[in-house]
Amino acid sequence: MVTQSLSTSASQAFKTYSPSTSAAQLRHVFQAIAPKHCPSLANFHMHTLCSDGQLRPEALIQQAVDIGLRNLAITDHHSIDGYRRAKQWLGDQGFPDSDSPCPTLWSGLEINAGLLDIEVHILCYAFEPEHLAIQPYIQGESVFGYDYNAAHVIQSVHQAGGLAVLAHPDRYRRSPVELIPAAAQMGIDGVETYYAYDNPKPWRPSPKQTELVYQLGEQHGLFHTCGTDTHGDSLLRRL
Ligand SMILES: [Zn+2]
Ligand SMILES: [Zn+2]
Repeated sequence: MVTQSLSTSASQAFKTYSPSTSAAQLRHVFQAIAPKHCPSLANFHMHTLCSDGQLRPEALIQQAVDIGLRNLAITDHHSIDGYRRAKQWLGDQGFPDSDSPCPTLWSGLEINAGLLDIEVHILCYAFEPEHLAIQPYIQGESVFGYDYNAAHVIQSVHQAGGLAVLAHPDRYRRSPVELIPAAAQMGIDGVETYYAYDNPKPWRPSPKQTELVYQLGEQHGLFHTCGTDTHGDSLLRRL
């Protein structure tokens, strides 16, 4: 019974607008993510002017609506200003029984953290923006010391009610073969399995890296997420 209701929820995740943006709801969405959803139905990695991206948050969310994105997160580095502005914009629109459905915008953030003596990026979603545990990470710059430790980042995101995902696992000075098990041991929830490392046009997850990261994620019971890591003016590309 439980399995049935989970899979029903998962299949609905890309069809029905859900006003709830809790981590429990996001788990259903992550469970349902497949490569075919990316990047036009789901995109969990985008930057705005509020960090090192080029789009104003209002322009980003307008473009998301135009594309027909159903689930998305703005993941600026150490800032949720872009998320807040996009959320405000969505609220102002109202979406009265319109043809273009309101996308679900999840809270998001990208944090620099130390893992196995190198720097990695940890994506965070569906956390409570006001929660004390997340405050050190939304001050506009990278943190140091204890706060910088990946285990502590993951723990803080969980305390704030959110989920943590290892960003672009094959873009670091250590292999995903080392990093993913270490992050899993610290309680990370997912890996950014579907990622275009070579900035192709049109966007598509890099086949070789995707296969490796997918297998490692499966071995450790992690969610597979997708994102374009947009820094330019199109949500369908990285640059
Ligand atoms: Zn990154
Ligand atoms: Zn990024």
